[in-house]
Amino acid sequence: MDSRVVVASLRRLRRRVTVWIADHVRAKIVEEGRALFPLETGGVLLGWRDGADSIVADLIGAGPKALHGRHLFLPDHAWQLHELRAAFADSRGDLDYLGDWHTHPAGIAEMSKQDHKTLGYLTRRVRGALMVIAAGAADDWTLGAWSQRRAGLFGRLQTDERDLRSFAAPSNWPRFPAIAD
Ligand SMILES: [Zn+2]
Repeated sequence: MDSRVVVASLRRLRRRVTVWIADHVRAKIVEEGRALFPLETGGVLLGWRDGADSIVADLIGAGPKALHGRHLFLPDHAWQLHELRAAFADSRGDLDYLGDWHTHPAGIAEMSKQDHKTLGYLTRRVRGALMVIAAGAADDWTLGAWSQRRAGLFGRLQTDERDLRSFAAPSNWPRFPAIAD
């Protein structure tokens, strides 16, 4: 192989950012998506970063007072903040805020115009914030992950789709009691 090709593919490998999502988190997203179907739901992703990769170890849902519509949902912020504080305290700082997740009931796992805006808002507060979208119905759900980075001369936020992989988390990993079952 031409050495330039090797260098180029090594660069590509290094640049490929992966979002690792624990099986129980993926299952919980699908479960909540099914429970609210055909209305949208979502919440917050918790975990930690490993270099450019993110490891999603837990999640927080929409909350009891969230409003769910067909193409939007408004989370119960007060409840989420309370849950976030409890998660941070329980994990003694092992879990961090990584980004948001939401569903596209009977839709596709792609970023909408509003999703780009929302992710821009999150990214300005938390660098590399993630947006995970779960699209589907019944037993058939597809998940995708996106984040934004500054690119080009003017440092505009550009959205990149991330490689999303699930894995079985070891049982001794920090886990928030809300989804310990
Ligand atoms: Zn969306």
